[in-house]
Amino acid sequence: MSSFLIRGARVIDGSNREPFRGDIAVDNGMITEVSPSIKGRGKTVIEADGLVAAPGFIDIHSHTDLTIFKHPLAESKALQGVTTEVVGNCGIGAFPVNDDRRAALTDYLKMHEFHLPSDGLSWNHLTQYADQLDRIGLGLNLAPLVAHGALRIAVLGAEDRIPSDQELEKMKALLADSLEQGAWGLSTGLIYPPGSFAKTEELVDLAKILARYEALYTSHIRGEGATLIEALDEAIAIGKKSGVRVEVSHLKAMGKDNWGRGKEALSKLEKARQSGVDIAADQYPYEATSTSLTALVPSWAHAGGISELLKRLASPETTERLQTEILREMNHRGGPSRIVIAEIGSAKNFELSGKNVSQIAELWNCAPEIAVMRLLLEEKAVVGAVYFSLSDEDVDAILSSDQVSVGSDGMGMKTEEDLGKSTHPRSYGTFARILGFYTRERGILSVAKAIYKMTGLTAGRMDLRNRGFIEPGFTADLVLFDPLTIQDRSTFDHPHQYATGVVHTWVNGCPTVQEGRITGNTPGRVLRKRGVSSYS
Ligand SMILES: [Zn+2]
Repeated sequence: MSSFLIRGARVIDGSNREPFRGDIAVDNGMITEVSPSIKGRGKTVIEADGLVAAPGFIDIHSHTDLTIFKHPLAESKALQGVTTEVVGNCGIGAFPVNDDRRAALTDYLKMHEFHLPSDGLSWNHLTQYADQLDRIGLGLNLAPLVAHGALRIAVLGAEDRIPSDQELEKMKALLADSLEQGAWGLSTGLIYPPGSFAKTEELVDLAKILARYEALYTSHIRGEGATLIEALDEAIAIGKKSGVRVEVSHLKAMGKDNWGRGKEALSKLEKARQSGVDIAADQYPYEATSTSLTALVPSWAHAGGISELLKRLASPETTERLQTEILREMNHRGGPSRIVIAEIGSAKNFELSGKNVSQIAELWNCAPEIAVMRLLLEEKAVVGAVYFSLSDEDVDAILSSDQVSVGSDGMGMKTEEDLGKSTHPRSYGTFARILGFYTRERGILSVAKAIYKMTGLTAGRMDLRNRGFIEPGFTADLVLFDPLTIQDRSTFDHPHQYATGVVHTWVNGCPTVQEGRITGNTPGRVLRKRGVSSYS
C-alpha cells in the first residue's frame, strides 16, 4: 500500500467548512496527518499547487450493480472523482436470489436495462455477489443496498397482492439475513412493479428491521409529479412509524403542472425533520429523467411479470385501456415529443435510439401511445427512455439545499465499449457538472458546500464511518481536481464523453486516476456494514 504526501493543496475536507491550504499524508491506505505543512521525508510527494484536495466522492444513488462486471473500473465515474458507489437503488438490485424465481428477477433487471454478466445471476445472496466482485477486482468501492423488488420477487414473484403473514415473515428474515451480511439498507422503487404492489404497511414492517440495524431506507417514492407531496408523506410516515433513517431518492417535481413544487417538497422534508424524522434526499443535476419506457405503463398491467405485460399489450381486451393510460402518463411527463428513446436491444429498431416518441409515431404513421406499445412489444419491454420533464428552477432550488446529497442515478460506463448507445449523460457528468456548471459558472453553491453534498453529508446518511472526510484516521479515498477546469462534457446528443479536470484519485490509498488517466489499479472493495445487532 502506497505512502505519499499531497503538498500545497487547497484542502476541502468534506465538512462544509472553509477551505485551507495544507498538506495531507497517507500511509497504509489511511490519512495520517493533515496540516499546513508536513515534512515528508522518504515519501512520494504530489505537488498540488492550484488543485483542490477533497474526500473521494460518494455516489449515493448508483445503478452500477451489474455493469460493474463489464466495467470493473467504472471509468465514467472514476474520472469524475467518484471512489464509492451505493448500489441496489430504486428497488432494483442483484440479491437476494431465490433459485425458483431467478428467471423473474432476471426479467426484472433486464427491463431496467441492467446488463447481466455472461453467466447470469450466479449467486443467491450478498456475500456470494460480493465475493465474485472482489475476485474480479474493482476500481472503486461499492456499498450495496438490498433491493425491495428483488426481495419481493424472491418471496412473491411478480404477483400483484399483499404478502400473507408467513410471506411477510420470510421477507423480513431475508432482509435481516442481507443486513447481517453487511448490506447498508433497503431501497424501494414504488412506481416500479413489483415494488408498486406493496402497501405502506409492508414497508413499515420491513423498515422496522432496518431501524434495528441502524440501516438506511432509501426510496424512489410512489409519485414524483402530481402525487409528489402524498408520496413524500408516505416516506415520512414510514420513518415515523419505524424509526428508520429515510433517504428520498432523486428528489424532483416532474411534469409542467408541478414545476415550482421543488421548494414545497424541501419544506415538507424540513418540517418532518423538525418533528423528529431523520429524512433527507439526493438529486442528479439535470432537467431530464431517465428510466425504462415501461414506466409509462400502469402498474396493473405488470402483474405477473414481463410475459403477462406483453400479453396485455397485445390483447384486444386491454389495449384500449392501456392506450388511454399510457397517453395520460406520457402527457404527465411532458408529452411524446419530450420523451426520447435511449437504449434499445434489437438491431431492427436500433435507428430509433435518439428519436422522440412523436417522431417514431410519425415514422410509423400511428398515434404516439400506439407507437409506445408497439415498441415495447417488439423489444419485449426492454427499452430505455429519457424524459425531459423537469424545470431548471426546481433543479436549482433542490440543489441549493444542504440536506440533499449528490447521486448520479447512473452507472459506470466506458466510452470505447458503450459508444453508439444512447444514454443519459448523468453517468458521465454528474459530479463534474456540480463543480463546473453549478458551482464555478453559476455560483449556486460554494465549492465547500458542493463537496460536502458529495462526501461528508453522504457518508453521514449512509453511516459510512471512516470515509467522506479528510481527517487523520480516515480511509484515504481522495480526489485532486482543478477547480478552474473541472467540467462535464457528456450531453444528451453525445453522452459518451468523460468529464475533465480530475487529476488524481485514490481509492483505499491506491491511485486509480493519475494525471487524468485511469491507472487500471483495482483497490476497490465491496464495503459491508459492521457492528449490527441481531434479528430475533
Ligand atoms: Zn429511481
